[in-house]
Formats: sequence, structure tokens, C-alpha cells
Amino acid sequence: MNHFKDGWFTELSPLWPGQATSFEVEEVLYHQPSKFQDVMVFKSKTYGTVLVLDGVIQCTERDEFAYQEMIANLPLFSHPCPKKVLIIGGGDGGVLREVEKHPLVESVVLCEIDEDVINVSKKYLPAMAKGFSSPKLTLHVGDGFEFMKQNQDAFDVIITDSSDPVGPAESLFKQSYYELMKTALRSGGILCSQGESPWLHLELIKEMQTFCKALFPVVDYAYSTIPTYPSGQIGFMLCSKNPETNFREPVTAVSKEEIQNLNLKYYNPEIHKASFILPEFVRKVLS
Ligand code: SAM
Repeated sequence: MNHFKDGWFTELSPLWPGQATSFEVEEVLYHQPSKFQDVMVFKSKTYGTVLVLDGVIQCTERDEFAYQEMIANLPLFSHPCPKKVLIIGGGDGGVLREVEKHPLVESVVLCEIDEDVINVSKKYLPAMAKGFSSPKLTLHVGDGFEFMKQNQDAFDVIITDSSDPVGPAESLFKQSYYELMKTALRSGGILCSQGESPWLHLELIKEMQTFCKALFPVVDYAYSTIPTYPSGQIGFMLCSKNPETNFREPVTAVSKEEIQNLNLKYYNPEIHKASFILPEFVRKVLS
């Protein structure tokens, strides 16, 4: 598929037929196939540097915080003591940056399948990839599904920051992966996964919610607004092993001062609560 025309990049995918997002391109900085996918980085005119995998936008410098802060902090502020965290995917480092600065987090393991994504992010997206130099980090390069099989009772929080359910990330949207995550979580553990957009994939979200409810006593769904993901919105599937968890009420409400110290630009306790309020067409299907 040719994504470039007349100095513009257009994100086309069978996952969102009949619609596309386009960016005016200043310069293509990197474009190579990796062992797993086509990896591209370009400088856009108005959204900063953009990472694209298999033709699909993964993050842009201008709005990445709307995703990274929410997928990291919704679970972290729903757990009373999130000491040990696992991130699956997340090769751009943005979720890692958010997790490692959380004051209660002692260690973070990140398992990304594609080393090339880590390397290009370090080179072209340093503000996102800065978490890779954290002393809290243990890095694994490998398949997240296989890695999950090796862990029992090991993590307080598992965050799956994956690309869409085609190609290498397909297995990360399956019930068998959620069964493995349940085993890998400690008692009271919480998971949060990239949960697609209700505007585009409500049936997939419903299917995931159904198997999650069969596995976990508490399951909820939240979303963030973000201009450069298809439909301008992305969801998060949250599950807890602790029947007392109420995702809609943060266990710790960060103060205004902490928000500044943590350099948060999207997350605050009010948006934490509001992100679970779903429009009627979504609530009808998910309730
Ligand atoms: N925030 C982005 C989104 O919602 O589209 C995802 C960003 S992050 C770059 C996604 C990462 O997941 C990619 O680097 C990809 O290589 C990684 N990934 C895909 N499948 C994986 C798997 N099975 N195990 C580990 N990482 C995987």
C-alpha cells in the first residue's frame, strides 16, 4: 500500500475501512522493514515526529501523552501498592516513561517483540524513549505472549501497550493471553490493555469484555481522546483480581503539586473518574 502522495502521509487500513488520517510530511527520517513489520519515522508539519508501524500511526510527539499517561496511570492509581509492573509492547518507551516515574513503582519489566522499534525510538523520539535509561527497568526483547507463560504470581500491574490485533499483536487480544496475565498477576493485581475505539471496534471490545468478566471479578472500560488515533479516541480494558477494586475512584488522588512534579499533561483525578463515563451507544453494548 502506498501511503505517500504529494508530500502527505495517509494512514489507510482495513481495520477502519472508508476513512483515513493524513499528515503533511516534512521529512522521512527512517524507513526500513524489521523482522516483524515495516518501521517508519517521519517529521510531520504540525504533529512533530511520528512513528508508524505497518502503515499505522503508533504515536506522535504532539499528542502521545493523552494515551501514555492514561494507560499507565489508570491502573497505577487504582492499585494501593503497584511495586512491580510489567509492560508488554510499548517499544516507543512512552508508557515506560510514565510508569517508571510513579513514586510507588520499584521495578518495571518491558517486553517488546521488535528491537528495531526500541532503537529508532531512542534515536528519533528521545522524549518518549527516555524511560529506557531508568534503573528500575529490566528489558526483554521477545514475544509478549510467550513471555507471559514464564511468569506466575509476579506482578502487581500488567500494561499491554500493543499495536492493533493484526500481525505480531494478534495474540494479545485473545482470551488465552488474558488467562496467562491472570496467572502472572499477584493477588490483588490489575491489568490494563490497549482497548481499541468504540467507534470502530465495539464488537471486539464486547467480545473481550465477555471473556474478561469470566476471568476477573472486576472489569471496566475507559477511554482517552487523542486526535491522531483513528476516530480520535482510544479505549482501555481494565481488570482486577481484587473484588474490592473500584476503577472509577482512584485509590490515591494526585495533588496539583504532584501533577506538576510528575509532569502530567492529561491525567488528573477528575479525568480518571470521567474516563469511565461512556456514551449511551457504548454503554448499551458493554453494560
Ligand atoms: N500506542 C500504540 C497504539 O495504540 O497503537 C502502540 C504503541 S507501541 C509502539 C506498540 C508495540 O507493540 C510495537 O512496538 C510492537 O512491536 C509491539 N508488539 C506487537 N506485538 C507484540 C507482541 N506479541 N509482543 C510484544 N510486543 C509486541
